[in-house]
Amino acid sequence: MRNELLSWFAREGLLLTHVQSASEDPEHDEIKVSVRAPLLALSRASHDFRECLDPVLFGYPEESLDMMNLDDMNQFVLTWFERAVEAGMARCFVCNQVLTMREEDPPWDAIFVSQDLYCWLLAHFDCKRYLNRDLKGRHPFELEARPPEFFDLRLT
Ligand SMILES: [Zn+2]
Repeated sequence: MRNELLSWFAREGLLLTHVQSASEDPEHDEIKVSVRAPLLALSRASHDFRECLDPVLFGYPEESLDMMNLDDMNQFVLTWFERAVEAGMARCFVCNQVLTMREEDPPWDAIFVSQDLYCWLLAHFDCKRYLNRDLKGRHPFELEARPPEFFDLRLT
């Protein structure tokens, strides 16, 4: 992940820090500090977590991060999720059903979770109230995230 994107999340207060003591021996104590930017979840399956999107890698200008606030980032992430739903790759985090853009199917929402874990995920309107149950016990530094798919986010 580019430093510019990490700095942006730091500026927004959305970087998680994890301090770990590597050794039991106090004489040779090593402290390991890791930071993690928010993740995206296409479903609750462990292989469905993605690294956060970098707007520049999707064709936005270099300086776009300087001008983006959290609302802009939410909008950008939502556009990416819509492409994932269109591709049939996204599931409700709670009930695990494949989401669609069809009007006759239950509506869903992109949600930014900011407790314990910083993560964008998708859930049906009616499933949201069960979300806390499904987020319990997840540790952000134990989740493996893959690079995000490069959907074409241009407006057509
Ligand atoms: Zn659901």
